[in-house]
Amino acid sequence: MIAKPYSTPHYLDALFRLIQRLSLTNSKRQDLENEYMRIKAGDLGEKVVMDSLEQLQLPYNFYIFHNLNLLIESRIQIDVFLLTPYYMIIFEVKNIKGAIELRQNPRQLVRTLQDGEVHAFNSPEPQLQEYVHQLIRFFDEYGIHIPIYGAIVFPFSSSFIKQTSTNSTILLRNEIKPFLRKIPTNIEYFTTKELAYWKNFFIRKHKEFDPYPLMKHYNIPRVNIMNGVFCRDCGKIGMQRIAYYWFCPHCHGKSSNGHETAIYEYLKIINSYITNAECRDFLRLKDINKSYRILKSMNLKKVGSYKNAKYTLPENRH
Ligand SMILES: [Zn+2]
Repeated sequence: MIAKPYSTPHYLDALFRLIQRLSLTNSKRQDLENEYMRIKAGDLGEKVVMDSLEQLQLPYNFYIFHNLNLLIESRIQIDVFLLTPYYMIIFEVKNIKGAIELRQNPRQLVRTLQDGEVHAFNSPEPQLQEYVHQLIRFFDEYGIHIPIYGAIVFPFSSSFIKQTSTNSTILLRNEIKPFLRKIPTNIEYFTTKELAYWKNFFIRKHKEFDPYPLMKHYNIPRVNIMNGVFCRDCGKIGMQRIAYYWFCPHCHGKSSNGHETAIYEYLKIINSYITNAECRDFLRLKDINKSYRILKSMNLKKVGSYKNAKYTLPENRH
């Protein structure tokens, strides 16, 4: 059964909004766009693997986790994890199209596109081996010597796996289930109760990746990030507050709550806290009372009082 269901990376949306707020000529823009596409592709791969595992049936209890971040010896980030009474398995999901070759010396993932273009990526193998190693050592300390496996999964048929010399298990999506059914189940390491204990343990130990504010995470100077409210109709920045709504000078579109998205973006991208003066600058308002009313109207947590008041997102709202 699914212990931790698929969820989309919460920072993907914020990353997209950060890119929108950089000028087209910003030197970091291309890197961030690549990062965005990489995360999005990886996420789609993980989603289809989770979808196919949802219907998994095995003749014993098991738990499946999507995106498990654990601090063991170091921080490890597992795409998909399977916990059973007989073994555990870490799936590293790779959504990379083209002809793929895992090279050993040096360890690289090399892909060739149909037009002959060649790209080299970090090989997923050393990382996967490290994750498996850390988990084995962790359970060793409890005197539990359950087998822990790792497998690299290519979920889409747009990945063509060339002959490789690797020792790692490489699976296409439709090979996952037959592979699992072949894993030996001679020794039962966990009773049903113990299995549930470790399931809860992993859920408890999971710590959500926190890259906020993104400006610091990606090392982008504040001056590079444009202020203003985006127009949902034409996508341009610079809506103006008129009476109780926002007006777009480019397309004449209107919005009643454009400020909410903008403040959410500020708190994710620039700083976890916003003051009244910062809000006025960011929304390009002339009147400080307007920004005060806007901040008050949103469901934000207020810290400090009077002149020192600042606002932040209520806890656990990603
Ligand atoms: Zn517009």
